[in-house]
Amino acid sequence: CRHLILILGDQLNHDNPALDGFDAAQDHILMVEAPAEATLVWSHKARIALFLSAMRHFAVQLEAAGLPLTYLKLGAHAYPSLSAAWRAQVLQLQPQKLIVCEPGEYRVLQALEQLAVEMGCALAVRDDTHFMCSRADFKRWAGSNKSLRMEFFYRWMRKRHDVLMEAGEPAGGAWNFDADNRQSFGKRGPQQLPSAPAVAVDAITHDVLADVAFHFPEHPGSLAHFVWPVTRAQALAFLDDFIQHKLGQFGPHQDAMWQSSHGPGQSKSMLGETPGESQQAQATPFLWHSLLSSSLNLKLLDPREVIAAAEQAYRQQRLPLASVEGFIRQVLGWREFIRGVYWLDMPGMASANHYQHQRALPVWYWTGDTHMNCLRQTIGQTLEYGYAHHIQRLMVTGLFGLLAEIDPRQVEAWYLAVYVDAVEWVELPNTAGMALYANGGRFTSKPYVASGAYIKRMSNYCTGCRYKPELRSGPEACPYTTLYWHFLAKHHDTFAANPRTALMAKNFERLDADERMRIAAHADKVLNGLDAL
Ligand code: FAD
Ligand code: SF4
Repeated sequence: CRHLILILGDQLNHDNPALDGFDAAQDHILMVEAPAEATLVWSHKARIALFLSAMRHFAVQLEAAGLPLTYLKLGAHAYPSLSAAWRAQVLQLQPQKLIVCEPGEYRVLQALEQLAVEMGCALAVRDDTHFMCSRADFKRWAGSNKSLRMEFFYRWMRKRHDVLMEAGEPAGGAWNFDADNRQSFGKRGPQQLPSAPAVAVDAITHDVLADVAFHFPEHPGSLAHFVWPVTRAQALAFLDDFIQHKLGQFGPHQDAMWQSSHGPGQSKSMLGETPGESQQAQATPFLWHSLLSSSLNLKLLDPREVIAAAEQAYRQQRLPLASVEGFIRQVLGWREFIRGVYWLDMPGMASANHYQHQRALPVWYWTGDTHMNCLRQTIGQTLEYGYAHHIQRLMVTGLFGLLAEIDPRQVEAWYLAVYVDAVEWVELPNTAGMALYANGGRFTSKPYVASGAYIKRMSNYCTGCRYKPELRSGPEACPYTTLYWHFLAKHHDTFAANPRTALMAKNFERLDADERMRIAAHADKVLNGLDAL
């Protein structure tokens, strides 16, 4: 053929730039379900199922449009990896050129470049126009600055794309309304939780779920609640549901966490439950979050349409600006920024280990079987749905990884494995950069450390826990609290020297020598017995 177009599992947009200029008479498309992509990290069953189902639905649409396509299904071919399948097809079809849209993973880009050299075939890697800031533009914006700040990037993007702007000024006269956002639910808990939108399991998804159960039976996670959009139409329905029923409340509840009496970790749902129980359990993990990350990352949705829908809801339905701005900041700001930083800092980011942490990931990260209730709940729902919201990822599982001095490689592999929205360009900077400070503060002004008091303030997890967030040492001490003070002791000088953390260092200085010794002794016990917590 003339051109062999490679479409990867997270490139399921019909305006995929690799298809520009496609001529059905001389070009051909290749899509591959490669087992290695599910096993490089020990992927959650729902993550594998989501990618495969969305790919198969997309392939059906390409075929219906009359585009010539080779689709290699799991189990129906013997190629272990993407590279092996591509190599065989290049040999067979002898294309003049391979064309692909920029992949979302450095490793895949390298594999493509290697293959092109090895096969003596021209390779065109086209800019991924899904993103609103190209890699080249981000590089220009970042310049030679050592430290990058999302806030300035976000303001630049707002002006550049004319989002929530009025006569050159930010709508409402401010860039940020965080003072109105980020509240806890208080003691009463959330009132009138919105229901999660439903996705019908059609014949394609049904087959995929069976394939995943057959090929990856030992993998973590459950397929019992497969709730994710696998087509653009379903993703648009999720977007509409979010705008109509959740966006107005998004801001105030963005950071709050809540365990309902039927929440995951308490129900038997991972082992098989009645449908009624699963309905109950669904409401709590999702709260007022959009659940759009996987649809955006698979490119079933375009960020421009998501942002436009939110802005329109502010202008036409008068939804609160604090919520709308808070949401737009995540998509136009954080998501684009994170992608820019990934490509700017790879491959170094993947091996960064600022604190030289070396401990092994506790085994209960894969089971949720720990006495620490916040982790039990967060990991429980992660295994059940492949989902946790941002603060659960940053301030529960991520914070523990940092305070417990876990090797960043092991934490990163876990995040890449267990979330349905995980693709390396977004997972790695969030984990290495935001949660673990493994890249030494390249885009955060301080490590995100906190004691159990933060989790107590933002959730009801501590009420159901054997540990007490206010205790620093002793058998009932909250491990977060012990390890937080231990962390302050260990990094006192750098914390004291940074205006953003100086207050924490001062608080540590107020502890007397005996208390410091008790903390050190208990932290030692905790760190040497992580699996038993
Ligand atoms: P909402 O809370 O409704 O937010 C709206 C949208 O904003 C999201 O759909 C997402 O597209 C975007 N967004 C919000 N925060 C971020 C962020 N920090 N970086 C990039 N985009 C953001 N997100 C992923 O998509 N894939 C990942 O693999 C991933 N790994 C993470 C790992 C860690 C340690 C942390 C702290 C965060 C990670 N995030 C990741 C970011 C964020 O937690 C998820 O995007 C969000 O929880 C998805 O749920 P939602 O769609 O309901 O988001
Ligand atoms: Fe988590 Fe500590 Fe609260 Fe237990 S006491 S739920 S471990 S923060």
